[in-house]
Amino acid sequence: MSPIVFDNSYARLPPRFYAEVAPTPVEAPRLIRLNTPLALQLGLDPDWLKGPDGVAMLSGNDVPAGAASIATAYAGHQFGGFSPQLGDGRAILLGEVVGQDGKRYDLQLKGAGPTPFSRRGDGRAALGPVLREYIVSEAMAALGIPTTRALAAVLTGEVVRRETLLPGAVLTRVASSHLRIGTFQFFAARGDVEALRLLADHVIIRHYPACTGEGRFLALLEAVVAAQAALVAQWMTIGFIHGVMNTDNMSIAGETIDYGPCAFMDAYHPTTVFSSIDEHGRYAYANQPPIARWNLTRFAETLLALLDADIDKAVPIAQAALDRFDPQFQAHLIAGFRRKLGLATEEAEDVELIRTLLETMQHGEADFTLVFRRLSEEAAQDSADACRSLFKDPAAFDAWEGRWRQRLLKEAASAEARRDAMLRVNPLFIPRNHLIEAVIEAAVERGDFAPFETLLEVLARPFDAQPGREDHARPPEMHERVLATFCGT
Ligand code: AMP
Ligand code: MG
Repeated sequence: MSPIVFDNSYARLPPRFYAEVAPTPVEAPRLIRLNTPLALQLGLDPDWLKGPDGVAMLSGNDVPAGAASIATAYAGHQFGGFSPQLGDGRAILLGEVVGQDGKRYDLQLKGAGPTPFSRRGDGRAALGPVLREYIVSEAMAALGIPTTRALAAVLTGEVVRRETLLPGAVLTRVASSHLRIGTFQFFAARGDVEALRLLADHVIIRHYPACTGEGRFLALLEAVVAAQAALVAQWMTIGFIHGVMNTDNMSIAGETIDYGPCAFMDAYHPTTVFSSIDEHGRYAYANQPPIARWNLTRFAETLLALLDADIDKAVPIAQAALDRFDPQFQAHLIAGFRRKLGLATEEAEDVELIRTLLETMQHGEADFTLVFRRLSEEAAQDSADACRSLFKDPAAFDAWEGRWRQRLLKEAASAEARRDAMLRVNPLFIPRNHLIEAVIEAAVERGDFAPFETLLEVLARPFDAQPGREDHARPPEMHERVLATFCGT
């Protein structure tokens, strides 16, 4: 008997919200890693999960009693073009559990075999993308950014056919929910207002219980706008590029979801894009805020019928809610960069100070993460030589540093307190692409998971200097640079 207590609220919605489907068993499941702290947080027994029955569940070979085992329906705009039916093509929602924190979480198997939504796909996942998602989602969690989590990774003992034959794997993903803007679009595309109302009320109960009464659907729209504005601002202050901000990859709960060709910037440049399928840079670093707003506009469109029976009244209501995105995003962004620069107070000049630093980094081809980290390390000293050395044109940095030091004179905190505060928001360790690639290569080519374990260990404490791990903090050498990332689907 599985000790997991499921309570599957989504599966209690009408049958048109999902397809019931069992995972397809795999040949020879082998646990790569169990996320023990996360298991405990969810109230799950790590020993059971690591044992034969647990691994059977995590690989899809056994569906425990009480699990829902469904593939959810959704639609979505992919690179701007609308697909009325996408859905979980390779993911199966086992169900929901209530964690130690009293919150509800989805347990989902990604790569667990075909579903009615698979179209031409095989329903499987290759080991590389599974490790990438595990690493980056856990790194994001440690950085304090809302995200789905990785509970486990399992080898299937089978191969998947991509450009080459690759080892197959299954990721167990944990999320506040897997509901997306695309979930709403699925029903809006079918004119199914009753389903939209049921879905909106489900989301409100689950994620935004403060939205009540007659005006709850407008409050929901405003809450999702606010959550996305906060989320994308956090991405920007950490140099994260999602890579596939399609509406089906945007979580209604405001978590980062679907780590495909995502990447962190090394040298700062606003047009940075890694995804091999993003030819026109639609989802480049600097485009993420306008794309988030574009996606939210698609979300608002799905809610129009719930906002007012008269569409002419509903549109301006939705527009007003969407108009809150830009100011909210800007406020979060500036607050985030202020913290990164050790500024506890607000001055009108700050926006210009931030902008100039970013420009200087761009022209100086300076590493985004290290600039802020070294500035933090050197914040209590008279000069910032280590930071300065990151810039191709150190004189430009000197000019900026002078302005920053001047600005610091308006701050009350001691230099040491400021340095410590900066060290707590400016990470030393991020999941750099070349590190991830090296981990994947070791695992796929040599069956060596030690680099994976080490990288996870380092990234679990991104703000702590870790003696002996300096190599995990450095930017890639020329020959290590990763120029393109792949979905691997
Ligand atoms: P993604 O680009 O991973 O967000 O996926 C977009 C759509 O393609 C979703 O409906 C996925 O479920 C589906 N999909 C991606 N990879 C596969 C696969 N290997 N087999 C079946 N469906 C897939
Ligand atoms: Mg997706």
